[in-house]
This record gives sequence, structure tokens and C-alpha cells, in this order.
Amino acid sequence: LSVWSAVPAGPPDPILGVSEAFKADKDPRKINLGVGAYRDEHGKPYVLTSVKKAEELVASSDPDKEYLPITGHAGFTKNAAKLAYGANSIPLTQGAVAVTQSISGTGALRIGGAFLARHYPNAKTIYLPTPSWGNHTPIFRDSGLEVRGYRYFNKETVGLDFEGLKADLLAAPEQSIVLLHACAHNPTGIDPTHEQWQEISNIVKEKNLFPFFDMAYQGFATGSISNDAFAVRHFVAEGHQVALAQSFAKNMGLYGERVGAFSLTTADPEEKARVDSQLKIVIRPMYSNPPLHGARIANAILSNEALYGEWETEVKSMADRIISMREKLYNMLTHDLKTPGEWGHIKSQIGMFSFTGLTPAHTQALAEKAHVYMTRDGRISMAGLNSGNIEHFATSVDSAVK
Ligand code: PLP
Repeated sequence: LSVWSAVPAGPPDPILGVSEAFKADKDPRKINLGVGAYRDEHGKPYVLTSVKKAEELVASSDPDKEYLPITGHAGFTKNAAKLAYGANSIPLTQGAVAVTQSISGTGALRIGGAFLARHYPNAKTIYLPTPSWGNHTPIFRDSGLEVRGYRYFNKETVGLDFEGLKADLLAAPEQSIVLLHACAHNPTGIDPTHEQWQEISNIVKEKNLFPFFDMAYQGFATGSISNDAFAVRHFVAEGHQVALAQSFAKNMGLYGERVGAFSLTTADPEEKARVDSQLKIVIRPMYSNPPLHGARIANAILSNEALYGEWETEVKSMADRIISMREKLYNMLTHDLKTPGEWGHIKSQIGMFSFTGLTPAHTQALAEKAHVYMTRDGRISMAGLNSGNIEHFATSVDSAVK
């Protein structure tokens, strides 16, 4: 008998399942709107020019392959924190931000979860928006936190359930941890307005909640690095201590390089040093120290004025292409095809994804009849659309809902 004979088969990953069905489909019109990775106007993966130049710069310096320190590349972590918090952020200028490199955004969330499970002095319960990115629950549960939800999405309006959100945060026990998507909420594509963020900040203050920001899409939402950092910067300016997970997967297209950062704002440099020492103790037994290459690329961009400018332009062009697909799709459904239903949310939603409102039955029909693949919840990756396939998508949606 094998040692593993009693291991039960786990369920397949819902998003990778979509990719597999797509791969198996031989129809030339097929479209994959499942995966959350940017695609260019021709539906191809996109390597940023600024990234290619950064790689050349790195290679020309003939760097060694020594181990990084446990918390990673010091230049990279300093610049990543500056990008998120802003150069004039008070805790940054005071030397009070503890920051470590991470295995992209997922790794940052996991380090944060593990650190909170060990050192957060209050009840170790984290509230996630309903719905949230599918990996949040397993990440925080495996980190040792108790996971609960707060209302976020209103099915009727296909918009933010702001009243439900406020009521649930007000009803949460004091000092609970609350996870906030900093921008470009995944999967709904719905973000609070600046005024709503201010109200959320007030509730977090009133209830002594601990805000943990997941910022996987800085720059990708509006095309502006600083606009997309509004929530994080507002909370810090309001005097909140925050935890922050950053990813450079989407905004630099460094998906497989796995480069990110986790940070905590602390009271002063002395406290930061103690927190730093404990971050190292969390990380060392997990993976010892992080990989070099992605951090070097990101740092080359963040530390070089010309490359940074080029990168900002490229981030904006990715965001703009997605925004233009939103407008085009909205116009096709509403004006050209007169598709039944209200489609305004396609235009107003933000970032990589759109929660279309299509039902599991619609998504199944789209896959079987039109070779169009998306997750069962009706979420589409806007980046998968381009001028070559958007018409097939719109007419297929039209037929599916009629
Ligand atoms: N957080 C959210 C909300 C995401 O959508 C993603 C990726 O899809 C991540 C974090 C982490 O991605 P990565 O680990 O590739 O940086």
C-alpha cells in the first residue's frame, strides 16, 4: 500500500480550470477572459520596454549571484515603500516603515498573515470583503488567522454595497483586522470613491480596526501611480498604522519574477528595528531569503529617473487600453446590439476585471456555444479583449442573455 493512498483529490483551481478548457478548445474564435494577466492589442503577453531596458542595465553591471539578506534587496524595498506611501510620507521620512521584499503579492500577504498571527496583540480575526480574491481566504487561514467577511458587492446595482460595508465594519469587534483592496478591487472592479474611503477611514479609527491593504494593482486602475495610492496614503495621513502588501506582477508585467513587498508602519525607528527583527524570524524558516532578479529589475526602474518615466507611460498605456475596451464593449452592448440589461457598470468598473453580472448558466453557454471562457461568477479580464475579438465577445454575450 502506498503511503499516500488515503490522500483525497482536491478540487481543481477554478481559474486554472478555465485556462485548461480554453487550451483544449480548437476553435479559432476562442477567447480566454479567465486569467488576470495583461494582454496586448494582439492578445499576446506583454514585456514592458522599460523592463527590457532595466534587464540590460542589470546585465551590463555584471552582478553576482550571492544571497540577498532575509528581507531582500535594500534599494528595492526602500523604493517600493516610497512608491506606495509617497516620498513625503511621515512614517517614511521618520524611518519608521518596516519593509521586506516578498514573493510577489501573494508572499507579501502570507508574511503579513504570519506576522499578525504571531504578534498582533488583539483578536486574530481578519475581515475580507465579500467577494474577495479567491486566494485571500486560504492565505490568511493557513497563516493562522480567523477569516470573516464584510459586505462589499450589491448584486442589484452591480455596485458597491456601501451601507452594508459600513454596517459590517461597525458591527465587527473592536480591533479586528480588516483587509482592504487599495485599488482595482478583484474580482468586482468596484472601488470606493475618495469620499467613501474617508468614511471608511473614520470607521476604522472609531472602531480601532487594523487596516491591512492589498495593493496588487498600483497604477493599473487609473493609470496613475499616485491616484491609485490614494487610500493607503489617506489612511497613513490620518494617523492609522497600516500593513501593506505590494505586487509588481501587474504594473511591471513581472508575473513570473515574483517581486513584491510587505511593510508595516511603526511608531519610530526603534520600534521599526524590533519589528524588522521579527519579520526576519518569520521569513527565515519559510524560504530563507528572496530571489534576486525581479528585485533588481524593479529597482533599476524605480531608481532611474528616465526609466521610471518610461515605465509610468507604459503603465498608463496598459490602463488606457483596458479603459478603451470598457467603453467599446459598453457601446456595442448598449447602442449597437441593444442587449437587454443595464451595462453601465462595465464602463464604471476599474482595473483588470469586470464583474459582468452574467450568471453561471450564461458563462456555460458562452463557453459551449461561443468558445468564450471566463470564471463562473461572470468575472472577465478586460485585458483579454482587443479590437480583433471584442465584436465576437459582444455578439456572443448578446445571444447568451437574449
Ligand atoms: N491580491 C490580489 C487582489 C490579486 O488579484 C493578486 C493577483 O491576482 C494578488 C494579490 C497577488 O498576485 P501575485 O502574487 O502574482 O503578485
